[in-house]
Amino acid sequence: MTQISVPVVRNILQANERLAAANRKRLEDAGIYAVNLMSSPGAGKTSLLERTIEHLGGRIRMAVIEGDLQTSQDAERIQSKGVQAVQINTDGGCHLDGNMVQIAMDSLDLGHLDLLIIENVGNLVCPAEFNLGEHDKIVILSVTEGDDKPSKYPVMFQQSSVLLINKIDLLPYIDCDVEKIRRDASRLNARLEIFAVSCRTGEGLEAWFSWLEKNVQEHKK
Ligand code: MG
Ligand code: ZN
Repeated sequence: MTQISVPVVRNILQANERLAAANRKRLEDAGIYAVNLMSSPGAGKTSLLERTIEHLGGRIRMAVIEGDLQTSQDAERIQSKGVQAVQINTDGGCHLDGNMVQIAMDSLDLGHLDLLIIENVGNLVCPAEFNLGEHDKIVILSVTEGDDKPSKYPVMFQQSSVLLINKIDLLPYIDCDVEKIRRDASRLNARLEIFAVSCRTGEGLEAWFSWLEKNVQEHKK
C-alpha cells in the first residue's frame, strides 16, 4: 500500500461514520429499529425478507431499502408484498454507504415505521466495514457456500449480531458441516446469535422472527 492511500481510506471511513451517526439519530428519534442484512450473492437475503414480511408484516410497520448493483427487481419483489421499498443502484459499487442510505431514507415515511431493513449489496467483504446507521448487522450464509466462510471472511462474522445459516433443507445433498460453521463463527464472535433456517421450507425461522420482534419492541417510542 502506498503512503497516500492509507489516509485517504481513513478519511472515507471517518466521513462515513459521521453520516451513519446522523442516520442513527434520525432512526432513534423516530423509534425505528434498523438492521443491515449482508451476505454473498444468492444466499437468500430477499427470500428472507419475503418470509419476514409474510410473518411480521401484519403487526410491524416495516420498510426496506434494497441495495443492488443494477435493476429494481428486488424492490419490486418486496413492494408486491405491500411494503414500502426503495431501490439503491450502486452502479457497480460493491457496498452501501451512509450517504446512500441517508438519501434513501428521505423517500420513506419515517413517522409511520417500526422497522427498517437494509438489504446490502451481495458481497461478504466490504459491506461489513461501512456502518449505515443500523442497530444490528445480520449475516446470512447458505450451506451451499461451504463451511469455510467464517474463517475466510472473519470481519463479516465479527461485526454481526446474528448469523442465519440458510438453505438447511439442502444439507442431505451437499458436504457442509453446520457444526463447524457454528464453532468457527462463535470463536470469532462470542455474542453472535446463530439460527439455522430454510427460507424455502420455513424451518427454523420462528427463532429469527422472535429475535427481530423483540428488538423492534425495545426500540419503539
Ligand atoms: Mg436480493
Ligand atoms: Zn465495497
